[in-house]
Amino acid sequence: MTPLYGGIEAGGTKFVCAVASGPGDVRTEVRFPTTTPDETLGRAIAFFQEQAASAPLAAIGIAAFGPVDPNPASPTFGFITTTPKPGWANTDFAGAVRRAMAVPVGFDTDVNGAALGEHRWGAAQGLDTFIYLTIGTGVGGGGMVSGRPMHGLIHPEMGHIRIPRPRDDAFPGICPYHGDCFEGLACGPALKARWGQPAETLPPDHPAWEIEAQTIALALCNYICTLSPQRIIIGGGVMAQEQMFPLVRRKVQTLLAGYVQSPAILGDGIDSYIVPPGLGNMAGVLGAIALAMAAT
Ligand code: ADP
Ligand code: ZN
Repeated sequence: MTPLYGGIEAGGTKFVCAVASGPGDVRTEVRFPTTTPDETLGRAIAFFQEQAASAPLAAIGIAAFGPVDPNPASPTFGFITTTPKPGWANTDFAGAVRRAMAVPVGFDTDVNGAALGEHRWGAAQGLDTFIYLTIGTGVGGGGMVSGRPMHGLIHPEMGHIRIPRPRDDAFPGICPYHGDCFEGLACGPALKARWGQPAETLPPDHPAWEIEAQTIALALCNYICTLSPQRIIIGGGVMAQEQMFPLVRRKVQTLLAGYVQSPAILGDGIDSYIVPPGLGNMAGVLGAIALAMAAT
């Protein structure tokens, strides 16, 4: 019998829980808003208990908004740690699921989870060093270096790097910690704050997208120069704007100015270098399933 796994895509806005054996076999999925930890984790656990009553789960994977503690050797492994999200700081997420379900629990950042899923089934198959970036309610990045998920000291915080600003740009940014860091300038809520309307209502020819693409391209150039990724996958609600991919690609080429000499970046190569998730809008929850598989 094919083993079944549970996956939790834990976002700051919503949770998606699924039971699957792989991308072609998602048996059931539920979505609910992220409220208090007690209520939200309670709903997730109740869902998996109900599922496990009819078919046992081999493991559960959690791909969580952060910051988190992904170090299995740490006493706070599996916790959401210093998040500014009200009520969620110091929440023992993985522990609560493990105690309730008595199965192995895989745990990582939402973006490292999505990266693992993309590596297994999506746009990063066969690569060993790549980035998965999301531009949505926040901005976050993860991925793999030499075939291992990016952890290091804690985990990368790619959304909080500083980006050079045009001299005449006075928008202060919205990051509660840094103001105009990458996330503070480029996440969906930052677009809303700057332009006075939700990002999804800005027309494709609005000047917002030119500035947004430049901000994203500057960040990507920093990642390309520091990590040398073989590919960059970008997901998240803001990237649903189809005009963004060609804009970002062209600006990355202009900014790098031919310095990084790889056919992956030069000319048309860039079209398969900066790409949307191969798993589409299932990247997050399938990433959690991939984390579950890795935990067994
Ligand atoms: P989350 O970050 O919670 O996982 P999303 O990735 O869907 O969720 O990001 C939500 C953000 O993306 C919101 O700020 C929203 O305004 C923005 N967004 C959603 N759809 C679009 C769109 N079609 N165009 C531009 N921005 C969008
Ligand atoms: Zn920041």
